[in-house]
Amino acid sequence: MATATLTIDLAALTENWRALDAMTGSGVETAAVVKANGYGLGSGRVARALAAAGARRFFVAACEEAAAVREALGPGPEICVFSGHMSGDTDMIHDLQLVPMLNSIDQMLRHVEALPGHPFGVQLDTGMNRLGMEPAEWAALREIALAQNIQLIMSHLACADEPDHPMNTQQLLAFREMTDGCGVPRSFSATGGILLGPDYHFDVTRPGIGMYGGLPFEQARAVAHISLPVVQIREVEAGETVGYSNTWTAARPSRIATVSAGYADGIHRAMGPKTFVYQGDVACPVVGRISMDLITVDVTHLADTPKELDLLNAHQTVDMLADNAGTIGYEILTSLGARYRRRYVSA
Ligand SMILES: *Cc1c(COP(=O)(O)O)cnc(C)c1O
Repeated sequence: MATATLTIDLAALTENWRALDAMTGSGVETAAVVKANGYGLGSGRVARALAAAGARRFFVAACEEAAAVREALGPGPEICVFSGHMSGDTDMIHDLQLVPMLNSIDQMLRHVEALPGHPFGVQLDTGMNRLGMEPAEWAALREIALAQNIQLIMSHLACADEPDHPMNTQQLLAFREMTDGCGVPRSFSATGGILLGPDYHFDVTRPGIGMYGGLPFEQARAVAHISLPVVQIREVEAGETVGYSNTWTAARPSRIATVSAGYADGIHRAMGPKTFVYQGDVACPVVGRISMDLITVDVTHLADTPKELDLLNAHQTVDMLADNAGTIGYEILTSLGARYRRRYVSA
């Protein structure tokens, strides 16, 4: 086996979803965000496991992403689309039975003209200025929308990972002002919003990263594990260099393992200097540059010759790798790429 193995723990995934579900009241539905191929972990497998655990509503970013989710789920569970009803989406919305979250008057007109009676949701902008109807737009449309087959009204928080940020209450007030009295289920919170407490929960929550084992859900169990096969081991003399641009020089006679994975597998080049791989609990530092397909590691201190070394495990989490690369866990997971051998386990 010459490519790295990405093990996806579906039991940890569903346990995280249940834990997030348990943080909200019994009247609050916990949906699941499976956009970007289930944060890189496989939207079909992820959605099926979550549906078996009790999730009934799923969110994707664009209609094209919904095909794999619908195929995995079959008819029944609701699949909502954040980007709404774009031109060219009508057939997919109809055939895959999707619920577009309409973001503008144009989208609303397109939807009710193309698919009269077909369910939809509305996305409101409460200050993030990314997606959704502005207050004035919504005011003009509100009565018309409420007279149609509207299923959900949602908005999204810009700073939910910072509990004390004043933007949270500002957006909460704006959301209430725009939606109180509508009589339609409301959704406001992703993972961060769930952690902000009951004022933010409304009727439906939309966790993503917390289910997949990432911050800001600190109690999350890790879902993704990566192990890298050792392709070659070599001895280098003190003073010899390793890798592109000679960035690492052996200070003593050293044993170097070359493992299979690199920045083409989402192991960003920038994380090199602070990142380790592990033989069980023993850390081995990455030395030299991370290349496209290979990483070099100092294994001088290991008692035996490893066949594989772990990159993502109990010691080194997705968020630690993200820190090492100057990014966030979301970006690490969604850039893992297609080359891994993917194993799904549920124990
Ligand atoms: C991605 C996304 C979510 C999920 O966010 P997490 O931080 O991963 O929980 C929820 N709602 C919207 C609108 C999103 O774009």
